[in-house]
Amino acid sequence: MLPAIALVGRPNVGKSTLFNQLTRSRDALVANLSGLTRDRKYGEGRSEDRAFIVIDTGGVSGDEEGIDAVMAEQSLLAIDEADIVLLLVDARDGLNPVDEQLVQYLRQQSREFHLVVNKIDGRDPDVAVSDFHSLGIASMHAIAAAHGRGVRQMIESVLETV
Ligand code: GDP
Ligand code: MG
Repeated sequence: MLPAIALVGRPNVGKSTLFNQLTRSRDALVANLSGLTRDRKYGEGRSEDRAFIVIDTGGVSGDEEGIDAVMAEQSLLAIDEADIVLLLVDARDGLNPVDEQLVQYLRQQSREFHLVVNKIDGRDPDVAVSDFHSLGIASMHAIAAAHGRGVRQMIESVLETV
């Protein structure tokens, strides 16, 4: 079994962009994973010699509010079936209350996760992540998914944890 990496986070932080970046050169979507549902998109990625599955949790409506909406069922299922959880946040927005709720939720579930600070293009990565230090997350990674910046290093680092 390949390790599965779930991408979670509020709408517009760049989950699907990262998904596409990671699965770019893989045309085949993984169609036959057990537990597959229509609301989660699966793809295969590769980093150096290691292949992995990526789970994009699209379909969360940005119109709804609160933890229940953000942590829609498909996100919960993705977290459940993943070996690695990446919580994406937006460097341009800075720390958002919903990000904090998601962190709280993952901690309640005793889920290990990595914070991925996306959209660092045009800014200093250290400054970009400093907004999120107050969350107290040990594993923080700065990327620009749209440009692939930092993505390879981030993936290699998180793969080492499983
Ligand atoms: P999702 O809702 O979390 O899946 O977010 P999307 O992947 O759909 O991205 C939301 C918006 O952010 C889109 O307009 C993307 O082009 C943009 N975006 C994603 N990654 C980056 C990035 O690294 N830098 C910038 N500047 N924009 C990005
Ligand atoms: Mg999306």
